Amino acid sequence: MKPAPFDYVKPATLAETLELLARHGDAARVLAGGQSLIATLAMRLSAPALLIDINGLAELAGIVVADGVLRLGALVRHARLGAAPAVARHAPLLARAVPHIAHAAIRNRGTLGGSLAFADPAAELPACALALDGRLVLAGPGGTRRVAARDFFTGLYQTALAPGELVTALEVPLAGDDACCGFDELARRQGDYAMVGLAAQGRRGAGGLAALTLAFFGVGPGPVVAPRAGAALVGGPLDPARMQAAQAALADDLAPSSDLHAGAKTKLHLARVLLGRVVSAMGAESGA
Ligand SMILES: Cc1cc2nc3c(=O)[nH]c(=O)nc-3n(C[C@H](O)[C@H](O)[C@H](O)COP(=O)(O)OP(=O)(O)OC[C@H]3O[C@@H](n4cnc5c(N)ncnc54)[C@H](O)[C@@H]3O)c2cc1C
Repeated sequence: MKPAPFDYVKPATLAETLELLARHGDAARVLAGGQSLIATLAMRLSAPALLIDINGLAELAGIVVADGVLRLGALVRHARLGAAPAVARHAPLLARAVPHIAHAAIRNRGTLGGSLAFADPAAELPACALALDGRLVLAGPGGTRRVAARDFFTGLYQTALAPGELVTALEVPLAGDDACCGFDELARRQGDYAMVGLAAQGRRGAGGLAALTLAFFGVGPGPVVAPRAGAALVGGPLDPARMQAAQAALADDLAPSSDLHAGAKTKLHLARVLLGRVVSAMGAESGA
């Protein structure tokens, strides 16, 4: 199918973009990489009167280290996120996640901001933002505000974005010398959306992990942190007893919903398998 007719505009500044969003309200959609939006238009799941192409906003394309955070502009493409030395150094979890997103052609166009704003429950980058305790920078008619990733994803394809707001960046704390991370997912084929995935960010301590955030995806309406399982794995050696306790705790942390890929029980099982793989690899890498 072809999209319904729409007008197209490509503003050159953020101020102009916000003015257009304010003027056209719900009749307008922001176009970033187009890798999700164009498909929804072609399937006529959405029929905006105006597309506002933000690809000309150079101010949204930077990767900057400043004020103790790594600031990643909303227009940073997945491929660049996976290759940038600053990301590999300060937020290696993101670099590990990128190869799991779709295929090279999609990674060359899709953007960080688009993935966060679209909030697909099986997407990699929202879960990484949660695991990294990131903050989204949102610009709107009232100015700029920052929202913690844990408060940003509010439901199935739902976010805390208010009408007229734009994601301009993701800020993540700089990884310290004791940081460690792990990422893996289970998908039917390489490049498919995950059936279940896990982004894990931790800190090494004496004889084990001192902190661990486990962010699962593909198990509910949005990315989910598993606090009980994370707590079971810190404070001592990563031995089988600790792992079994953490895997058991996932029953309380996660409430997977069945989808086209698998039933709820299978998803919980897959989450336990992934937990074992990801955390064991983190332990092997960090000597915990
Ligand atoms: C075949 C295929 C397979 C894919 N597989 C995966 C996968 O495995 N994992 C995965 O994570 N993704 C996958 N994707 C999606 C891909 O990662 C998209 O790039 C991403 O979801 C959206 O980014 P985009 O820049 O293309 O956004 P667009 O498609 O341009 O926009 C998506 C939505 O976000 C809004 N939006 C975009 N940017 C902003 C912003 N800065 N502020 C506010 N709203 C904004 C748009 O208005 C639109 O509603 C796949 C896509 C395809 C076509």
